[in-house]
Amino acid sequence: MQRRRLVYEGKAKILYEGPEPGTLIQHFKDDATAFDATKKATVEGKGVLNNRISEYIMVQLNNVGIPTHFIRRLNMREQLVREVEIIPLEVVVRNVAAGSIAKRLGLEEGTPLPRSIVEFYYKNDKLHDPMVSEEHITAFGWAAPQDIDDMMGLALRTNDFLSGLFLGVGIRLVDFKVEFGRVWENDLMRIILADEISPDGCRLWDIETGRKLDKDVFRRDLGNLADAYAEVARRLGIVQETPPGDAKGPVLVSDNTQT
Ligand code: UDP
Repeated sequence: MQRRRLVYEGKAKILYEGPEPGTLIQHFKDDATAFDATKKATVEGKGVLNNRISEYIMVQLNNVGIPTHFIRRLNMREQLVREVEIIPLEVVVRNVAAGSIAKRLGLEEGTPLPRSIVEFYYKNDKLHDPMVSEEHITAFGWAAPQDIDDMMGLALRTNDFLSGLFLGVGIRLVDFKVEFGRVWENDLMRIILADEISPDGCRLWDIETGRKLDKDVFRRDLGNLADAYAEVARRLGIVQETPPGDAKGPVLVSDNTQT
């Protein structure tokens, strides 16, 4: 029996109706997908780690004045968020060439870019999320020129903040993807960060060794994905160090809620 009304089920998350109007519950699954969901697996613990990592990042972003949909974490796999009208774009910020830009422009992976670059992709699985320009975005009415300016500004501020945060724990932020949504306060519309920020949508490389600590571990079969995400969480201080010989895996810090 379904306890709550399901609003939307995606590849890695489920949205349920929230306890109050204008809120949703965002539930993180253990499912991992890549290459337009042609590669699929269940990675035990991924949802719990992404819930915690995304919470940590969204709280910090809110603290520095970057508005997000995050309200509070509810339990190990769920967080309460503001309901937004999602803008159907994936906004990617890149600092270093990797993935699709390396292929598209013939750049060697790992080449630093001349400056941070913001790209827009139209969210449409059937079309494989094609890259679009501001011309397409405004012509098809997905966002207005002012909305694009707001998204670029917020994306670049997020990039600066996250680059520093990860640099401090020995991780290079190569690129990441964010999504934005609209909220209305009286007659005023505001654009805020939505969705999640976790290793599922970032490229994170260890500065010393180049070890990948993101979804490329799954895409390219480089090892255990949850181990890589747990390493990110451990460095950020979200999970405690695992004592040597302890086979139980990472321990969540100060978690006083239930599963
Ligand atoms: N990304 C994402 N969802 C997508 C496509 C990309 O989260 O549907 C993230 C991806 O993890 C990477 C960044 O956006 O951190 C840039 O991805 P890229 O365009 O290089 O695509 P990919 O290599 O995933 O094809």
